[in-house]
Amino acid sequence: MRKPLMAGNWKMHKTIPEAVAMVKELKSKIADVKDVEVLICPAFTALYSLANEAKGSNIKIGAQNLFWEPKGAFTGEIAANMVTDAGCSYVIIGHSERRQYFGETDETVNKRIKAALNAGLIPIVCVGETLNERESNVTFKVIEKQVRDGIKELTAEESAKIVIAYEPVWAIGTGKTATPDQAQEVHAFIRKVYSEMYGSAAEGTRILYGGSVKPDNVAELMKKEDIDGGLVGGASLEAASFEKLVKFGK
Ligand code: PEP
Repeated sequence: MRKPLMAGNWKMHKTIPEAVAMVKELKSKIADVKDVEVLICPAFTALYSLANEAKGSNIKIGAQNLFWEPKGAFTGEIAANMVTDAGCSYVIIGHSERRQYFGETDETVNKRIKAALNAGLIPIVCVGETLNERESNVTFKVIEKQVRDGIKELTAEESAKIVIAYEPVWAIGTGKTATPDQAQEVHAFIRKVYSEMYGSAAEGTRILYGGSVKPDNVAELMKKEDIDGGLVGGASLEAASFEKLVKFGK
């Protein structure tokens, strides 16, 4: 019932020619994949070229952030309608690197989500605890606050469009993956909190896992009931490894 979503977060990697070359290669490798939604989120500079390259294929393009104001004197920022204009259908919101290095809070996450939805984009909202929070046994408290405050005040229709990504901060780019059981436990908790907020919409909400997902651990993660896909950094940068992720390690 929930179509899996495999999303590559390219962070600050790849020039336009490098990005286009990889999507060209990936397109042919995964042309026959129909049961998984495939998304690439490159740097802003490559969005338009990649959206053109991906046209007519089963690859969708998303941005890694946006600003909530529709236009104005906000030097260096990108509005939601500029992201759709570049050919995107998705946008990552509240990635832990944005929270850690650029002052993102649950309040600004909420503003960005609303702006994304208003522009017709699907937000992938990232939540996750730090190592210190996990070791202090406050993981569930931290996640609940991020979900309740970050994804608040949506209409029923809007709440059904959201994708949530559980990304334990200690697992991102570190080579340490949450075990499938650790991830499932938090995914089920997120679905429970989201159902308390928005009722039955939560059953259809895709909850992605992110944090050192690799071709050799993706299959075990994807077997879990509440894991509906991946948000992948490092292993999404090469066509051969991203192909394996899209095919769940096969
Ligand atoms: C990410 O970028 O969201 C991520 C999970 O990175 P990595 O797969 O490299 O840990």
